[in-house]
Amino acid sequence: VTRDRRRFDAEWNGRRFAVMDTGGWRPAGKGERGHLEADIREQAEAAIAEAELVILVVDAQGAITTEDAAVAALLRPVRGRVLVAANKSDNEETAAGAGVFYGLGLGDPFPVSAIHGAGVADLLDEAASRLGEAAPPTEGQEESPQVAIIGRPNVGKSTLLNRLVGSPRVVVSPVPGTTRDPIDVTVELDGSPYRLIDTAGMRRRPKIAEDVEFFSVLRARETLRAADAALLLIDAREGVTQQDQRIAREAASSGAGLVVLLNKWDGIDAEQRERTTDEVGTRLAFAGWAPVLRISALTGARMKRLAPALEMVLESRTRRLPTALLNRLTADWTAAHPPPMRKGRRPRIMYAVQSQTGPPTFVFFVKGGTVDDTYLRFLEGRLRGACDFTGSPLRLAVRRGSGPRRNRSG
Ligand code: GDP
Repeated sequence: VTRDRRRFDAEWNGRRFAVMDTGGWRPAGKGERGHLEADIREQAEAAIAEAELVILVVDAQGAITTEDAAVAALLRPVRGRVLVAANKSDNEETAAGAGVFYGLGLGDPFPVSAIHGAGVADLLDEAASRLGEAAPPTEGQEESPQVAIIGRPNVGKSTLLNRLVGSPRVVVSPVPGTTRDPIDVTVELDGSPYRLIDTAGMRRRPKIAEDVEFFSVLRARETLRAADAALLLIDAREGVTQQDQRIAREAASSGAGLVVLLNKWDGIDAEQRERTTDEVGTRLAFAGWAPVLRISALTGARMKRLAPALEMVLESRTRRLPTALLNRLTADWTAAHPPPMRKGRRPRIMYAVQSQTGPPTFVFFVKGGTVDDTYLRFLEGRLRGACDFTGSPLRLAVRRGSGPRRNRSG
């Protein structure tokens, strides 16, 4: 538990390098959480800034701790430069169990025993081979898209997670003490990495039955905040319930891309299939732009289209309509279907601009009054007809005025 940083010169496989021991941090006492987190942050940030390669040491004889999760979250943006050493893997059993630390989202852990030396050579081989090629620390590395798996309890979220992760070695372990800590798992689907976020939260079950509804909507809202896309699971056996609708509304208004998954498709007859399909059309009409897939997370049936669908909605979300085209189209649409008169005046859309992507956001500059939500929905329909925004919500806003015009004399 020395707080001093110590440096040692080392050599492995003919490569010379310096090893820096960042020192330990004290385990948190009661009420010391803030202090602990500041410590962890400071150490991890220093290591990230200074080191070409970071080795995160975790205790393989325990589960993922709060501290592990906190430091892993800081390291994840540079996970290409991070190795996880699952220490105290003194026997085969512990070594096999070290796989749970994959849940830190930092790649396959290396089971090592620092005392006996087992596994250390493998770790150093990997470390030494990375040192030569390791890129210097860079800011803003390309991040994997963040994907939330949402839905009410028992729709099959954990089953889907396990299916996507693909093997029991990456079972997400609960965080002891505080179940509030999100755990992210990175998976590769069709060759692209996705980060499944807050996978711990999806497993948490409320204790009191009455909490169920409130809890799962709230949890979805929290998780969606960080998500680029959401996989919304619905139990096809039960159809679309009110609570499904509530969670879907959270998703639609969050700005994340959305794929609706009708799960447990294996367990139902033709009549129920038709009923559920109908209900999606009516009860989820407000998210009619989201692709709908029928799957069985349990058997793995019909899962092939999931990755392409995810890729598609993420692409839609970053699509951009050039300003000139957008204005030409808007002029056509409003000429054919002018905004309704208000108080004897006819509002006019003077100018339109797509101000953002992720999700695509459009601003319409209006003179002579304003346009209402009905008219905005009309415009949204036209926008979707003109450009493929499948799976992405759109945001439309109105401003008074003629807009940031380009050079008028030109
Ligand atoms: P969660 O609460 O949303 O994480 O739901 P779970 O993943 O724990 O699943 C709840 C139950 O539904 C479990 O008994 C699963 O085995 C079952 N289940 C999940 N997916 C499917 C599926 O595709 N088909 C069938 N028949 N059962 C499923």
